[in-house]
Amino acid sequence: MNNEGNSFALPWMLAIFTLFTCHSTASADDLHALKAEASQSIEQQAGSLSNLSDQIWSFAETALNETQSVRVLHDHAAAAGFDIESNVAGLPTAFIASYGSGQPVIGILGEYDALPRLSQSAQPYRDVLEPNEPGHGCGHNLFGPGSLGAAIAIKQLIESGKLQGTIRYYATPAEESIGGKTYMARDGIFDDLDVVLSWHPNDISKMDVSGSQAMVETMVEFRGRSSHAAFDPWMGNSALDGLELFTHSLNLLREHVRPSVRIHYSIVDGGGAPNVVPATASAAVWIRDTQLSGVLPLYERMKSMAEGTAQAASVTAEVILIAGTYDMLQNKTAAKLVHANMQTIGDIDFNQEDLDFAHKLQRAIGVEEAGLNGRAAPLNLNPTDLTGGSTDVADVSWVVPTVDVNIATAPVGIPWHSWGVVAASRSNFAHKGMHYAAKVLASTAIDLFTSPESVTAIKAEFTEATKDFRYRAYIPEGPPPIPAASDG
Ligand SMILES: [Zn+2]
Repeated sequence: MNNEGNSFALPWMLAIFTLFTCHSTASADDLHALKAEASQSIEQQAGSLSNLSDQIWSFAETALNETQSVRVLHDHAAAAGFDIESNVAGLPTAFIASYGSGQPVIGILGEYDALPRLSQSAQPYRDVLEPNEPGHGCGHNLFGPGSLGAAIAIKQLIESGKLQGTIRYYATPAEESIGGKTYMARDGIFDDLDVVLSWHPNDISKMDVSGSQAMVETMVEFRGRSSHAAFDPWMGNSALDGLELFTHSLNLLREHVRPSVRIHYSIVDGGGAPNVVPATASAAVWIRDTQLSGVLPLYERMKSMAEGTAQAASVTAEVILIAGTYDMLQNKTAAKLVHANMQTIGDIDFNQEDLDFAHKLQRAIGVEEAGLNGRAAPLNLNPTDLTGGSTDVADVSWVVPTVDVNIATAPVGIPWHSWGVVAASRSNFAHKGMHYAAKVLASTAIDLFTSPESVTAIKAEFTEATKDFRYRAYIPEGPPPIPAASDG
């Protein structure tokens, strides 16, 4: 069941539009007509947005390597008539596309980085395209183009004089690690925005205000002295011994943290041949909690543990901060607007073919064959669930009022960051979810452009929540760590 635009678009096709100024509030009919026009624009863009998303899916570029992905988005935005600012915040794979002038200034975020080692074809069974290569296991190939489609729909309304103000599309790289938005937030890139809109692919459509977790991402490196493990082991100081003591102490610490804390690590360097006492060993360690204030003391404690365990193994240790992200500051006023638009737009129109593909994928993964869920979940403004993930969108949320909505692009219940999401993210149903997301963002942006009262209320909620807060980015000093291979 769906009325994804058409059912209300057509009656308004002949509507006569009123020219609004940013100081007046649109009537309900005018608003309806504007949203119908934006939805129609997105339906007209549907093929090109799906095409962009499939291209980015095929490029499958990881954090700060997204040179081809950003190029197709950049070219598309330039062709659509936006003014483009490239190389933002020292990030060659970031850009800002702007159109219009004056207030309000509304931002829309887009992402496009892939995850390592998730290469998978678009088939609903495990089928590696290229071993150990990346894949779009978080659906960011949909995120970037969907958001751009919404920005284009708003740009067209500004161009035709039906809206006044400024729309900006932010092409933001490296969400999966490094945190491109954190560098952009540190450099004040979002400071003059009134409101930021964002979305993320998911297996449900939900205006979720349960937020995201704060996190610090570190690399812990141990250094010792190598020797022959049989001939002269007494000459060696094993960096791996230091690392093993360290991870053991981390595991003991897990019993003595609050239930909301998550500590996880992977061994990046555990030495090579058993007959060589390892001179180096390292682990990537991430610590999360519902708030950054819960993470930072554990980060300090982890540094002491690295020092202590290094001493015990007669080696040295260094804890390197890779990135840090805040927990998401929710804005309930903005969330209500988004949810209302989801209800008006209706369900995503998944068909039998979509369901068949979803069932096959669910069967292959071994989860319940629950199909797809195109219906917006009820809005719960006081959730009690702990949330699992972290995102650099959260850093933006402490700088400017931000709303981030989940939209169904994948079968119900498939594990995220897995090959199943890679397979799903190039499907017809994923494209439909992306088009729906673009409509939700465009409709919400129209509310903001036509209702200064809404913008004022959203900003008032933000100001109250941040009155004793000063943003500080938890990333290393200096420029972002651009890979040498980046030609962007
Ligand atoms: Zn993601």
